Amino acid sequence: MIASFVLHVLFLVALLIVAWVLFLGWLVWAVLRGILRLLGLIGRGGGSGPPNRCPRFRCGASNPPAANFCRRCGTPLRVSSRWRVAA
Ligand SMILES: [Zn+2]
Repeated sequence: MIASFVLHVLFLVALLIVAWVLFLGWLVWAVLRGILRLLGLIGRGGGSGPPNRCPRFRCGASNPPAANFCRRCGTPLRVSSRWRVAA
């Protein structure tokens, strides 16, 4: 009787430990996912993807994809991309 009671308690404790480990794993995963999302948002501002090359012949500077104007000569980059999409 006592042995079975101890076994039951041990089983419950093991179950609690497993649930705790699963919860901790989920918590770590959630935190890591949040950090990765934050880094992705920051990276989107910095610019990920192909560089936005200046269409001006003498410039040709590579700009971040989010840039509206060339950082070297100031030529608008959005217009050129629109033309590229239209053509
Ligand atoms: Zn330029």
